[in-house]
Amino acid sequence: MKVGILPIAKVDTAILRRMTESLEQIFPDTICKVIAEKMPLLDRAFDKKRRQYRSNVILTEIQAFAAEEDLDRVLGVVDVDIFEPELNFVFGEASCPGKAALISLFRLRPEFYGASADEAVFLARAVKEAVHELGHTLGLRHCPRVSCVMHFSNSIFDTDKKQSLFCDDCYLQAALSISNMG
Ligand SMILES: [Zn+2]
Ligand SMILES: [Zn+2]
Repeated sequence: MKVGILPIAKVDTAILRRMTESLEQIFPDTICKVIAEKMPLLDRAFDKKRRQYRSNVILTEIQAFAAEEDLDRVLGVVDVDIFEPELNFVFGEASCPGKAALISLFRLRPEFYGASADEAVFLARAVKEAVHELGHTLGLRHCPRVSCVMHFSNSIFDTDKKQSLFCDDCYLQAALSISNMG
């Protein structure tokens, strides 16, 4: 499948380029590139009371962008805090199945949790969240296996506990969805 990573507003594109390599290794038959243009963050996505951005408003924008592109999947990346109404925050969201996914880097840096900066940890977390949300776009649901990338992350500890890889069952399902893209 052809995956485009779409930077939204202010995002460090160096980490996005490093993510493309991991995504190409993890998904079968996949090429991944960082999209040159940037999408703006809409004012109406911002919730003034919560001082966070609405994940589903941004995802809808990514869906509209993806519909115009010659890409199988578009992964939007923001560096602001995002949420869904019933949750304090989310690491990401995706159409399941669909063309669009979104992740936020905001809560992935060790510094956010008072630890010292660590690029490797930051990248590993970003890759896990990206694979997880792209997995949803392929129709995959949450997996009960704690080490599988499709396991639900309630906190950064869950993210750190799981691998960036699919378990055998999820991998087969992802590979099948990709091969059906034709
Ligand atoms: Zn999920
Ligand atoms: Zn699994």
